[in-house]
Amino acid sequence: MSRPAPDVGPEAAAFWAATREHRLVVQHCPHCDRLQHFPRAYCTTCLADDLDVVEVSGHGTVYAATVVRRPPGPAFADLVPYVYALIDLDEGVRMASGVVGCDPDTVRIGDRVHAVFEDLDDVTVVLFTP
Ligand SMILES: [Zn+2]
Repeated sequence: MSRPAPDVGPEAAAFWAATREHRLVVQHCPHCDRLQHFPRAYCTTCLADDLDVVEVSGHGTVYAATVVRRPPGPAFADLVPYVYALIDLDEGVRMASGVVGCDPDTVRIGDRVHAVFEDLDDVTVVLFTP
């Protein structure tokens, strides 16, 4: 069973286009110079609605993490146990994602991680690895 695809609405189109190229971008406000993620129709600081995107390093730190042991649906049954985490990118943006490539029980707050990309059928998702 294939996993459900993320919502690829108009605000997130640039984000998902970049991940397809294995690049990580976040929204940037040209008016107040703030970065934000997840993608939205407006700047959460000044409400400007003409945001652009900037590429970020993909390096970050685990802010919080939990190990998922019961799959949220049949499509995730072969993935458990896996780590669901909040990652603070070095550029100052927090991103919800997974941590892969390690024993899930070893992931700790403060661990340094970097982005990796997993190509699914119609979308490429961003994950992080130590
Ligand atoms: Zn702004």
